[in-house]
Amino acid sequence: RVSWAHVRPAPPDPILGLNEAYLADTDKRKINLSVGAYRDNQGQPWVLPSVRRAEELRLQNEDRHHEYNPITGKNDFVRNAVALAYGEDLCAARHIAAAQSLSGTGALRVAAEWLHLYFKGNPVVYLPQPTWSNHPAIFHKAGLQTRTYRYFDTRTKGLDLKGMLEDLDHAEPMSIVLLHACAHNPTGVDPSRDEWGEILEVINHWQHLVVFDMAYQGFATGSVERDAWPVREFVRAGHQVMLAQSFAKNMGLYGQRVGCFSMICQSEEERGACESQLKKIIRAMYSSPPGFGSEIAGTILADSNLKAQWFKELEEMSGRINSMRMQLYTLLKDKHHLDWPHVKQQIGMFAYTGLGAGHCQKLAADYHIYLTLDGRISIAGLNDSNIEYVADSFAAVAK
Ligand code: PLP
Repeated sequence: RVSWAHVRPAPPDPILGLNEAYLADTDKRKINLSVGAYRDNQGQPWVLPSVRRAEELRLQNEDRHHEYNPITGKNDFVRNAVALAYGEDLCAARHIAAAQSLSGTGALRVAAEWLHLYFKGNPVVYLPQPTWSNHPAIFHKAGLQTRTYRYFDTRTKGLDLKGMLEDLDHAEPMSIVLLHACAHNPTGVDPSRDEWGEILEVINHWQHLVVFDMAYQGFATGSVERDAWPVREFVRAGHQVMLAQSFAKNMGLYGQRVGCFSMICQSEEERGACESQLKKIIRAMYSSPPGFGSEIAGTILADSNLKAQWFKELEEMSGRINSMRMQLYTLLKDKHHLDWPHVKQQIGMFAYTGLGAGHCQKLAADYHIYLTLDGRISIAGLNDSNIEYVADSFAAVAK
């Protein structure tokens, strides 16, 4: 007889588990700072007006249908997504194999599968310490090993450039290195352009393969161009990077699972071969990607007016996050004499507060504020109505 009696319950996901605890909390003051999803100043999810407009346009289209997508997704969407990442000039100058993916996670999963099957170097993926909690599992699922390189300096709460360069220097030649393109999750610490230059040099020297994870294009600085700079710089330097793009955060299309996987190839022939093998990988994993979300994203990317509107909305989201970041810093400093400069120096959706696991547990139990136990907060969960309470509570547990 079949039995599943040997199956033990898995531990809850560190982030989604906190969300469940938040939902079960009945206190009116409760605040969710754990999930990396944008909220407006009323604490509500925001459907971007450009997205609403694209939805309307799609629904008005008499020819719309629900046929299958091609295995690698809609060509127009993929072409425009890739252009958003690399820029038109590099797209014209390089041979890029690409496929629509199940958001950023799906793009990384396809990358992992690809590397497992075809990478001839050292099949070990170097991840920053710390990194997004799902990264190790995604690569392990494809049979790859992971190791870490130093990234965050707990003393300065900034980049440990020296440690990072040393670790990448000591990795076996031709290893795989995962880099967050911008708005590093969970630390909010990104290298400067000069620091990127030094990272590029070491990676170049040892011919490591780079997998860029770009889940937050436009969220770090408000500009998709500026945020994509590291990716483009590596490609300009001749690297055959792989790239995982997500439209979850920058278009607010979280549940629609819209993303793109791409890889730079050396020739048109190589690109064609790689794309045909990508199709085989995808066909066996999920057959073809979903339609509606990528139609929305595709409509925005293909229409210059809608695209311009989306850029403004991106600035609005990153601007509100930035303003909350500065307000939190100022409240902690002026009201509570806590000087946490890292809060204002970090970038993107998160702040890595430096609060320990004990502080975070106390914040949930006594103050109904939920954040991951590593002290990461989603700044987007802050607003004019709750920021003072959050600053007061942080100060109360930190002192
Ligand atoms: N990579 C990083 C660094 C992330 O923070 C996230 C989401 O939080 C993802 C990838 C994947 O997100 P999604 O699969 O929703 O696009």
